[in-house]
Amino acid sequence: MKRLQLHHWILIGMALGATLGLGLNWAGEQGMVDAQIVGKVALIGKGIGDLFLRLLQMLVVPLIVSSLITGVTSMGDLRTLGSIGGRAIAFYLTTSFAAIVTGIIIVNVIQPGAGAELALLEDGATAAKPLLTEAPDGVWVVLWQQLQALIPKNPLAAASRGDMLPIISFSLLLGVFIGLSEHLHESKDASVLRRFFSGLFDVMMQMTLFVVKFAPIGVFGFTLFAAAGKGPAAFRVLGWYVLTVLIALAIHGLITLPLILRLVAGRSPIEYARKLTSALVTAFSTASSNGTLPLTMQNVEEAGVKPQVTSFVLPLGATINMDGTALYEAVAVLFIAQVYGIDLSMTQQILVAVTALLASIGAAGIPHAGMVMMVVVLNAVGLPTTAVALILAVDRILDMCRTTVNVWSDSIAAAVVDRTQ
Ligand code: ASP
Repeated sequence: MKRLQLHHWILIGMALGATLGLGLNWAGEQGMVDAQIVGKVALIGKGIGDLFLRLLQMLVVPLIVSSLITGVTSMGDLRTLGSIGGRAIAFYLTTSFAAIVTGIIIVNVIQPGAGAELALLEDGATAAKPLLTEAPDGVWVVLWQQLQALIPKNPLAAASRGDMLPIISFSLLLGVFIGLSEHLHESKDASVLRRFFSGLFDVMMQMTLFVVKFAPIGVFGFTLFAAAGKGPAAFRVLGWYVLTVLIALAIHGLITLPLILRLVAGRSPIEYARKLTSALVTAFSTASSNGTLPLTMQNVEEAGVKPQVTSFVLPLGATINMDGTALYEAVAVLFIAQVYGIDLSMTQQILVAVTALLASIGAAGIPHAGMVMMVVVLNAVGLPTTAVALILAVDRILDMCRTTVNVWSDSIAAAVVDRTQ
């Protein structure tokens, strides 16, 4: 018999978790099983999943630092770095913006929030149309905050908090200066440093290979949690909203991005997706693109993208390229405005688009980060930030889907940069 590969096991874990979870949820609703027991099983699932996610997260900071420094120093000169970095960033911005435009068009066409029963969403008592009294932040304030986030006062403190943006900017700079000291000033000690980070990177990749062996169990746990804990009920009230986000994500993930992969990178989207199965399924179940990063790097390299590209484009992408999150921010904020019966003008919708892009860049690649960052977008157009509570119930499932699109987009960025280099 052919031996099953890791991604087969991951899919089996997900199917088992979903079947068991939905079965239990159904049995609980029918009164065949005590609701408390269903809740406990869901929590056990979450516990198992969390352990796996912690294992992955444990790898992320040293992996990102060593990978970016090795990526930068292996490029030889600053021009190659500039050209790879420039292409990657152009890709990130273009596709994230395309995602936002898709989302805004779909939410305006479907109008999921129009006529929604506020009381159903807000648990009755607090239901009220807000007055737009909060002073809007405006796009410059948001831009300024993101710029500040790039410069850590203390890189080690940023690393210990797991703040990715400052870690990335510091690592890139460190890589550039290791290269300069080595080449311009012929510093032997700088070479030692370069070899140190390159060795660390090799070892981190080996640790990754070890940790991802547990992915099927972790995926099982998370799926069990989502299926048993929420069941289909969570989708009833917010059904149209969920559908709108899913349709927009599907257009972006299944049409726009594959077209780019085909036309610019000259690769078959189906083949490429098949190579990325483990990463995509892990992204879906963990809802963390940072957590998935080790697997994404492994899969993309196996798909034949040069390590020089993956070690630079993927860690950067996992933090700043979030097409799914950007799309979701825009749709969610426009949905909230619709629910409150507030008509956002064209200019306000453009403001939503720009701040959604910035918020997606600033969002960490961890579960629910997109929802937290939505405060920034709500603030920019003067909507009450407490409105996030309206869509809390369905955030997990949408998070799973948008994270998959985020990781898919990062992987395509790597293929595109590899091809056009
Ligand atoms: N969970 C997403 C990610 O890791 C971020 C988000 O919440 O949108 O990519």
